[in-house]
Amino acid sequence: MTLHTAVIGAGWAGCAAAVELAAAGRRVTLFEAARTPGGRARQVTVQGLSLDNGQHILLGAYRESLRLMRQVGIDPDTALLRLPLQMRYPPGTGMDFVAAALPAPLHLAIALWRASGLSRADKLALMRFSSAARWMDWRLNTDCSVTELLERFNQTDTLIRLMWRPLCIAALNTPPDRASAQVFLNVLKDSLGARRADSDMLLPRCDLSSLFPNQAAHFVEQHLGQVQTGTRITAINRHDQGWQLASTGAIHHADQIVLATDIGNAATLLAPLTDVTALQALTHEPITTCYLQYPPDRRLPEPFHALIDDPEQQHWGQFVFDRGQLDARHDGLFAVVVSVSTEAIAAGKAALASAIALQLAHAFSRPELTMPIWSQVISEKRATFSCTPGLLRPDSPASLPGLMLAGDYTTIAYPATIESAVRSGVAAARALLARDG
Ligand SMILES: Cc1cc2nc3c(=O)[nH]c(=O)nc-3n(C[C@H](O)[C@H](O)[C@H](O)COP(=O)(O)OP(=O)(O)OC[C@H]3O[C@@H](n4cnc5c(N)ncnc54)[C@H](O)[C@@H]3O)c2cc1C
Repeated sequence: MTLHTAVIGAGWAGCAAAVELAAAGRRVTLFEAARTPGGRARQVTVQGLSLDNGQHILLGAYRESLRLMRQVGIDPDTALLRLPLQMRYPPGTGMDFVAAALPAPLHLAIALWRASGLSRADKLALMRFSSAARWMDWRLNTDCSVTELLERFNQTDTLIRLMWRPLCIAALNTPPDRASAQVFLNVLKDSLGARRADSDMLLPRCDLSSLFPNQAAHFVEQHLGQVQTGTRITAINRHDQGWQLASTGAIHHADQIVLATDIGNAATLLAPLTDVTALQALTHEPITTCYLQYPPDRRLPEPFHALIDDPEQQHWGQFVFDRGQLDARHDGLFAVVVSVSTEAIAAGKAALASAIALQLAHAFSRPELTMPIWSQVISEKRATFSCTPGLLRPDSPASLPGLMLAGDYTTIAYPATIESAVRSGVAAARALLARDG
């Protein structure tokens, strides 16, 4: 008899698990509390436009995400704009660094040589960092904060301000003085330390639900599975050899479970069954995205730019994306990302949108950017877990055979990203397939 697996949560982790199981011939039911699959990387409608709950960026190193996209029929080459690794501030400000079209590591060496906005001392410090990290095989004996790591490697103030801090905040959504140096090195190893294609930056040209979760749900249905959106699982229990799941007004049965919810919901569902201390120990960081719509002919020089954030001047934005360069339906629409946004959002959404419009006008020396036609701020309070040094990741409870945890927070050695979510889903599915054949 075909085993039946219930996957709870249709974020990227749950969708990845469901696709992997369905492709291996398992009967899958995918339960999702929301109406739209995608979880923290999903489509939302704003002013009649199909946008995302937060602007995302993927990397060429996201191998499993790209593999599964292809498996469900998405062509990454058309769905994503592939750009070389870059850190480009508005012209005349900050620095301008773009990886060259050469094999690794020449792509970075040449980029560094050509980069503007960095002194000779900055460039030498960056080269020292890169060769020392390679020599250490990107591994520390004892984890520490990113700030300590940068001090240890004598990184200059300019490099820290223009390169390391923005990279750390973008990748780990945790400020350098609280962020794990080891996880930061792991991310650098997979991108800077690998092939040139791995370091490429990939910008979605479609909404995030269409990039994988919608097609993943379709794939499950085509493989004799079911997808139940708008169905919140309220309790799970061991039952005979398998599991019983409760949703409002219904009881469902399954042989196995992949629990792919966010941390809080995983803790709530597991608390009656097992110790959830490790789940409850994780804390969260917010990310805020501010959409600003200008007339359709407004363009930025590049599809995205880094911005210098400075709380004292109310300059909160860290990156700005020109959505019109990704999708013609979004001409004139800019998305500004504020990671670790607790302080930025404290004065309210309207104040943040005005401050960001002023920041853009200042950064690009274009006064007309102070006056968007409309703006919309979306703040995700629990966007990612805080990626701190030596963080213990919750494991699937050994006392509950046939139940696997999946989610970005379970992937050891990586921060909360789409790729960690997908890898965790694939790993959970493979563990169940290996267990029961
Ligand atoms: C604003 C923002 C910006 C980000 N930027 C990036 C980026 O640029 N690059 C990157 O790689 N990553 C980024 N991330 C992180 C990335 O989005 C997440 O790491 C990833 O989406 C997590 O996926 P997940 O499947 O582990 O969890 P989730 O997306 O949280 O999925 C869990 C799912 O479970 C559902 N659920 C919960 N409880 C129940 C229940 N009881 N019953 C049924 N369903 C339930 C939820 O509705 C949800 O759909 C960003 C995140 C945010 C919020």
